[in-house]
Amino acid sequence: MTDLINPATEEVVASVQATDLAAVDAAIERAHIALAAWREVAPGDRARLLRKFADAVDADLENLARLEVANSGHTIGNARWEAGNVRDLLEYYAAAPERLLGKQIPVAGGIDVTFNEPLGVVGIIVPWNFPMPIAAWGFAPALAAGNTVVLKPAELTPLTAIRLGELALQAGIPADVFQVLPGKGSVVGQRFVTHPAVRKVVFTGSTEVGRQIMAGCAAQIKRVTLELGGKNANVVFADADIEKAAATAPYGVFDNAGQDCCARSRILVQRSVFDRFMELLEPAVQGVVVGDPADDTTEMGPLISASHRSTVAGYIEPSTRVAFRGNAPAGPGFWFPPTVVLPSSPTDRVVAEEVFGPVVTVVPFEDERDAVRIANDTDYGLSGSLWTNDLGRALRVSRALEAGNLSVNSHSSVRYWTPFGGFKQSGLGRELGPDGALAFTEVKNVFIATT
Ligand code: NAD
Repeated sequence: MTDLINPATEEVVASVQATDLAAVDAAIERAHIALAAWREVAPGDRARLLRKFADAVDADLENLARLEVANSGHTIGNARWEAGNVRDLLEYYAAAPERLLGKQIPVAGGIDVTFNEPLGVVGIIVPWNFPMPIAAWGFAPALAAGNTVVLKPAELTPLTAIRLGELALQAGIPADVFQVLPGKGSVVGQRFVTHPAVRKVVFTGSTEVGRQIMAGCAAQIKRVTLELGGKNANVVFADADIEKAAATAPYGVFDNAGQDCCARSRILVQRSVFDRFMELLEPAVQGVVVGDPADDTTEMGPLISASHRSTVAGYIEPSTRVAFRGNAPAGPGFWFPPTVVLPSSPTDRVVAEEVFGPVVTVVPFEDERDAVRIANDTDYGLSGSLWTNDLGRALRVSRALEAGNLSVNSHSSVRYWTPFGGFKQSGLGRELGPDGALAFTEVKNVFIATT
């Protein structure tokens, strides 16, 4: 049994049994057997079951949100949004079974059609930072496309995933079509990679583990989607609404205590407005409400664990120039205040590595070309923001940045209607959006002779 700790109080919330190897194999075998019937469920009936699952999530929304607050330290406002996101994803992809249209391709001598066939058993491996949405980005489209799913939540944050598994059954999703297997990455996650009946692995987590998963999947030419780390730039041009850019910058990086692959953790500001931006940023950072995540007015909660807090703290070395900090409660809980750093060099660890905590660096740039060069000077390429009132510049810079998800004059990254994923070492493949379910299918081409 593993004890789960509330990151805001350090109290034990629950204990969960880790799935052992034999139980993982048995679950994958059951998922494989369940596939035959699930893929044959008529498209309209599969759609109806997914909508019922969405309704069950909606009815349980407050409970799911409270579980996430206790297990993960998410603010209650965020946790409600996250549970609502699961509901919305299920509703959105409930439309997919009836719309996996395939193609009819004109050819000589017959009729040619394509089918989008399910892959089989899909293994989904989830990190601890957004337990509900990241699970659902995988399981909603995978189930819609006729696959069965085995899902491994992160060791630290399995409670909402376990609850979602119960809700699926209550809603009428047949047994073994969607199974949640809490446990270790090296046991449960690794078995998804090596078990031949698992035909695709959807992995979200660190680039380091993602690289191992990709290498492991190569042995069976197993399909893989990787959603990995990010070191995202927030580029503020002198012609932008500087007040708005400064007021929103803290929320672009400190949301979820910076434990967000899309956190805009490198702010780049055009030199002519740098001092003015910093003057405006300081009260904005100090205004971030950090405290009890269960309180409706709280904007930032604690870090996930004591060990993660010491990793984050390790990025602030004695020589690090801290411009200013926000607040954090004293007493129990894994708190770390919002922290703004003026780095001394582009190779400082705090600039080059994903901190995954409430730490942001701010650096000046000269012109558009310089901004693009600095923003792209990273192995990552997940998301980013740019602030400008020049439409031509917004488009030029958006096209020049090597990142999968950009926002102009805002910090939005993830919308379930639009594709999400990374360039470079931030990942492989795309999730969400209108083509999300297709990523869980193989295209089959069938030619029928007519002569
Ligand atoms: P992690 O890589 O340590 O773990 C992620 C998951 O993989 C966990 O469930 C873990 O148990 C499992 N795992 C670990 N070792 C494994 C192995 N050898 N085989 C199979 N599974 C294994 O990551 P984390 O610390 O939980 O999450 C933080 C990371 O996730 C950050 O780097 C963050 O940027 C990234 N992330 C990316 C996205 C995205 O969409 N791009 C979203 C959220 C988080």
